[in-house]
Amino acid sequence: MSAALDELLKRTQARSKQMIQHLQAQGVYEESLLELMATLPRHEFVEPAFSHLAYSPTPLPIGRNQTISQPSTVAIMTQWLLQYARLGRVLEVGTGSGYQTCLLAHFFNKVHTIERQKSLYVQAQARLKSMSIKNVEFLHGDGHLGWPQKIQMDAIIVTAMASKVPAALTDMLKEGGILIMPIADDVPTIGCWRRVGSKWKRLEAAPAQFVPLLEGKIDA
Ligand code: SAH
Repeated sequence: MSAALDELLKRTQARSKQMIQHLQAQGVYEESLLELMATLPRHEFVEPAFSHLAYSPTPLPIGRNQTISQPSTVAIMTQWLLQYARLGRVLEVGTGSGYQTCLLAHFFNKVHTIERQKSLYVQAQARLKSMSIKNVEFLHGDGHLGWPQKIQMDAIIVTAMASKVPAALTDMLKEGGILIMPIADDVPTIGCWRRVGSKWKRLEAAPAQFVPLLEGKIDA
């Protein structure tokens, strides 16, 4: 561990320090990511009744029947992006609480994020604004349709599970771009692929536990 991370952890609250040690035990080694997760107030992203569990290794409710993934899942997906993606423009489908969005905003030049539930979209936008995060564009819409302007992305991350990758999303990914998405197969798996021409090269895989990717948007 670097002296900087060691020093930071000395000043970090016990619950968040424990989370970082758990992440390291799970194979998260990118220090910039560990430092960010040690300082980001995860308890502000979950339903208030669960804030005491915010740093525990478990998914938690964020309202509207949706959940934030457990810290290790968020960290591992982000670490794959740091390992493989060009950190230019990223599209996130499933803004939810905005926690993953915050991590992306820290590392990428520009984040585009889509959420189908209006109230979650409104809350996440307000949360990130209050944290003075300015490189995120929010959209209330259906991620199956992709981003309305046909911008090409360096990476796409989907934080809800489906049986296949929506075609509108793959169309938005640059050659060599990285796609991360949980796929509902016999064994639900989060995959990380690189686009190579019309083919996909799988780079990583991990077990998945995610809420489903649903059709359409909800105005409440
Ligand atoms: N990344 C989030 C995880 C939220 S859970 C976080 O850090 O909190 C997944 C989210 O995907 C939910 O908020 C759900 O409403 C949203 N979602 C599901 N289907 C969607 C779709 N088709 N388009 C956009 N968002 C969708």
